[in-house]
Amino acid sequence: MAFAGVSGTIGEAGPLALLHGGAWAIPDTALPDHREGLAEAMATAQSAFSDAAPAIDAATRIVAALEGHGAFDAGCGAMLNRAGEIELDAGLMDGRTGRYGGVMAVQQLAHPIRVARDLLQHGNGQAALLAGEGAEAFAERHGHPLVANETLICERERQRYAQHRAEAAVDSSDSFLPNNAPSDTVGALVRDAEGRLAAATSTGGTPFKWPGRVGDSPLPGAGYYATEDVAACATGWGEAIAGHSLCVRAVDAVSAGDAPQVVVERLLTSMHERYTHPRGEGARAGLLVLPASGPGAWAFITPRMAWGVATTTRTAMAIRRETPLDLRHPS
Ligand code: ASP
Repeated sequence: MAFAGVSGTIGEAGPLALLHGGAWAIPDTALPDHREGLAEAMATAQSAFSDAAPAIDAATRIVAALEGHGAFDAGCGAMLNRAGEIELDAGLMDGRTGRYGGVMAVQQLAHPIRVARDLLQHGNGQAALLAGEGAEAFAERHGHPLVANETLICERERQRYAQHRAEAAVDSSDSFLPNNAPSDTVGALVRDAEGRLAAATSTGGTPFKWPGRVGDSPLPGAGYYATEDVAACATGWGEAIAGHSLCVRAVDAVSAGDAPQVVVERLLTSMHERYTHPRGEGARAGLLVLPASGPGAWAFITPRMAWGVATTTRTAMAIRRETPLDLRHPS
């Protein structure tokens, strides 16, 4: 099967952040919010570059900005599970050390990516992934305040939940059908001035998901991965992304010498063929890849993907397939 999405290469040498706010049929009405959220994240990337933040800290800051914006399915914009609660997953990886941290199914953290960052640092070989209350206890021990679940619920998602409850049969995997409900996970890849790489991702998961459901986003190799040479992050149907080990395969293929754009197209296509939704549709996702030198690549086989790129001096973003990159040069 030929690649049935859109893709490209982007970026130049030097510090670069590639970030996304989900891949799905983002409606026109949601474009302003998504653009604003991406713009904030790109500004955060540039301030991390000016602070000479290491890639892993820059990625944490970018994803924390996306978690805090509210437009996306992460942090305070997350979608509710069937029990009417927020359950968040996040993870990140430092390319140079291979260390990673991930938290999953957490209910009381406004910025799970920051806790994942601390776990990477302080897990000391005892834990790199923590779930639920264990993750929250770790967070408290490391100075992250716990918040009431209720305070993470925004009005938009409260309404979506009410609508799902009113519908006779809602299947959370339906959000990955071509024109369906949101999948607004966020993620970032960063290459810093020293050529270090990091990958990070954060999500509220799928709308109306089963309580306890965990997707690809907190799992290294699935929703994110980074080595000294290449970093990758993904968004889309988590069950398929994890099964296909999408990000580690992307990183390995680029490390082996394949062109980043060829790799993202090939892997999204093979995942689409291998994993089929119960309603017969192939799995869909978006994928970003960033090598330690040279341009990065992006691709999606969903109707739209909200994504952006920041260098020290320039930013660009795109959402619609038909929109050319809107390059903006800060004055
Ligand atoms: N990959 C996420 C998950 O399955 C959803 C998304 O990317 O929007 O939890």
